[in-house]
Amino acid sequence: MSSPPEIAATMGRALPPLVLKREEERRLLAGHLWIFSNEVDVAKTPLSAFGPGDAVEVRSSRDRFLGYAYVNPATLISARLLARDPAQPPGKALLVRRLESALALRRRFFEAPYYRLAFGEGDLLPGLVVDRYGDVLVAQLGTAGMEAMKPQVQEALVDVAGPRALLWKNDSPVREFEGLPRYVETAFGDVPDTVEVPEGGVRFRVPLAAGQKTGWYYDQAANRALFARHCRGARVLDVFSYAGGFALPALRAGASAAACVDASAAALAAASASAEASGLALETLQGDAFDVLEALAAEGRRFDAVVVDPPAFIKRRKDHPKGLAAYRRINQLAMRLLERDALLMACSCSWHLAPGELVDAVQRAARHQGRFAQLVAVGAQSADHPVHPAIDETRYLRAFLFRVTDA
Ligand code: SAH
Repeated sequence: MSSPPEIAATMGRALPPLVLKREEERRLLAGHLWIFSNEVDVAKTPLSAFGPGDAVEVRSSRDRFLGYAYVNPATLISARLLARDPAQPPGKALLVRRLESALALRRRFFEAPYYRLAFGEGDLLPGLVVDRYGDVLVAQLGTAGMEAMKPQVQEALVDVAGPRALLWKNDSPVREFEGLPRYVETAFGDVPDTVEVPEGGVRFRVPLAAGQKTGWYYDQAANRALFARHCRGARVLDVFSYAGGFALPALRAGASAAACVDASAAALAAASASAEASGLALETLQGDAFDVLEALAAEGRRFDAVVVDPPAFIKRRKDHPKGLAAYRRINQLAMRLLERDALLMACSCSWHLAPGELVDAVQRAARHQGRFAQLVAVGAQSADHPVHPAIDETRYLRAFLFRVTDA
């Protein structure tokens, strides 16, 4: 059960094995990175023998080496594969290699260093998310296995990206499932309260430590550009706007007016500050989006282009019925605000909401109001959120642009 002697020699020590049951290596061999508890031969290698985050060698029932992984005996996903090459054990060298590859992809697709530098499984870095704001990095460790490698992650980030400051934004609720504390901590350097993100002809003021998630929703960048392109002359409504990511580029692209709706006063303040600094006029409406949209309808307000980009209404499978109802309801409310010939961009970042379900939600809303919705463009998460084709969970963002008319 030990590793081949030459590997053990290069590593200095062999990692303990995690043995799979018969035939349970198939998903891994097809490209997936996850191992579930029912696939582990717990008679040979009891999961309870491991601590959260322990590194292991994964072996098939026939003792074939399948790769290196880290374990968390307490979570649904018992282990996540880090590398398939026996010469690449977990450690700084592997992280450097992965981050260099991730950086090369971003350099190919982005002109300026503003992007998600590492997107977990999509970059073969399960549990690691890193956003880049020029020479400031914001990183999030989402699993006990990545947390266990925190010093090496930091060193690798320094080697590969050479940031002047690094913030650990380890406050995601998913950390609780991993048995990890939630905290925000400066690793080194002077992390500014606010950074500027250039996008869509706007310099966005984005709060970092006090901001949402890792600061900026880079995943929507391509969809924001798509939306803005079709907003010339339009009255725009940006629902669940955060810092105005859809509204301000739309104004820059020639929209005649724009309003942002968000529950967060801080997010709207950031949007207003960016608008002001860019010489753009922006209306902000704070409150629960469902209530605000009701009120706008009651006032008889109408818009020519509306984007609806809610937080994930379906975080876990059991939330599906309630979440689906919420997607239907908010798109129905948005539909009521549309001018006779208008655009509606419906988005969802819930993996559990199938793309067809969101299209159907808009279609139902249109029928309900006797209108005709035409799907004119399909958006996707930006290239700095690469999809791992074997792991559908990495393809979570839905964005559909509809044109809506009176039937
Ligand atoms: N469209 C944004 C990202 C939106 S993230 C962009 O492109 O950057 C979701 C936003 O919804 C967050 O800003 C959050 O504050 C807001 N939000 C969450 N629940 C809300 C509610 N019930 N009503 C209004 N806003 C809400």
